[in-house]
Amino acid sequence: MNKSINPNFWLFLRLLLVSLISTGATQASSTQAEAVLREHSNEFRREVIKVTDSVYVAVGYGASNSALVIGETGLIIVDTGQSITAAEAINREFRKISDKPVTAIIYTHSHRDHISGASIFAGDQTPDIFASANFANELVGGHVAGEILFKRTKRQFGLGLKPETEVINVGVGKEMWSDGLGGGFLPVTVHISDERYSTTIEGVRIDIVAAPGETDDQRYIWLPDQEVLFAGDNFYKAFPNLYPIRGSRYRDVNLWANSLEKMTAENPVHLVPSHTRPISGRAEVNKALSDYAAGIRSIHDQTIAGMNRGYTPDQLAEMVTLPERLAASPYLQEFYGKVPWAVRSVFSGYLGWFDGNPSSLLPLTEFEEASRIAKLAGGAKNLFRRLKQSIKDKDYQWAMRLADYLITLSYRKEDAIELKITALTSAARLQTNAPARNYYLSVAQELQANKDRKSAVESSKE
Ligand SMILES: [Zn+2]
Repeated sequence: MNKSINPNFWLFLRLLLVSLISTGATQASSTQAEAVLREHSNEFRREVIKVTDSVYVAVGYGASNSALVIGETGLIIVDTGQSITAAEAINREFRKISDKPVTAIIYTHSHRDHISGASIFAGDQTPDIFASANFANELVGGHVAGEILFKRTKRQFGLGLKPETEVINVGVGKEMWSDGLGGGFLPVTVHISDERYSTTIEGVRIDIVAAPGETDDQRYIWLPDQEVLFAGDNFYKAFPNLYPIRGSRYRDVNLWANSLEKMTAENPVHLVPSHTRPISGRAEVNKALSDYAAGIRSIHDQTIAGMNRGYTPDQLAEMVTLPERLAASPYLQEFYGKVPWAVRSVFSGYLGWFDGNPSSLLPLTEFEEASRIAKLAGGAKNLFRRLKQSIKDKDYQWAMRLADYLITLSYRKEDAIELKITALTSAARLQTNAPARNYYLSVAQELQANKDRKSAVESSKE
């Protein structure tokens, strides 16, 4: 019998092929959020920028900036980069500008991405090393919660993810490298306790001023003659990380706003942050600093007012927003910090974990709650169906929650995990907040690795 193939079959095959190719194409092409985040990476393009005749800043060598101040017979370095490798690359560039010895290093604060390249800049010299007397590295060794902090830090910065395709950037830098953090640290030799420490180093007048904010030991550096202000991590071109999702003790939001007001009052012409590019021009710098201060102040004050009226963190996270003018500021876009996280942090910073609602005092266990939700849904089977539908509807937050219930109940657990991975990955691609994107993708990767390990164990048993 002569079997001719139905022409409709060919049509069907072609349509199938086209649809497969186009699905592939949409998968590969960027979402709008990814394009926006990619555009923000421009802030970290690698360059040594001349700020004044005697001040330079290296941007894009690792996650943080290092600055160079040229003095009469020696050099001053402000922040030393995130690793020996980063510092070596920066130092090579600085050496093209001046071959004077480094006689002073100033740490704006103790976070490891700012202190890890000091030995490279020092070379065979023994420079004075200035920092706040309360300089203390909350991330270096001995932290009681160090294990989980490290795990969450990895997720926040996407340390286990592929650069470029997965980690577009980390919000305030192109990427954070896991190796070399802490490597070239040199201990502080000049411990500053004066609120404003005024000195002259290498003929350059310098004020090193206490400015608690991202850390308690933060200081800004003010050069009154050059009218240059080094902001440390109290200012960068992104909404401030008033709460880091890796976890930290309460960052005093009120003090942070005070510090920014103090910085604004110096009336600088140049603002050199330790992340993102410098800003020049008195008016622009004033606008950047005062908007930043106003943004932080506004979130703080709105949250306090709402707390006093009895609102819970969930309610406040929904209610509190930046005033329209500030929400439009290029300096307050949520690439790094995020307003609702800041709101929750202010609440718990003042009142601790209890939201004030007695329903939250002694809640059901996760398992009990999941069981009862499943019952309400008409059984776990229905809950699973809803999970699949939520993914189809691109309702990823709800999908994550439903997947959590099913995983807790161990109902089709492996499938629920698979769907949670899909929800996380899809939600990540809609995020312009780099830490959230990196966290979603990292947890998706961890879940996948777990699944792969399990199936490898199972197949080895067969
Ligand atoms: Zn930093």
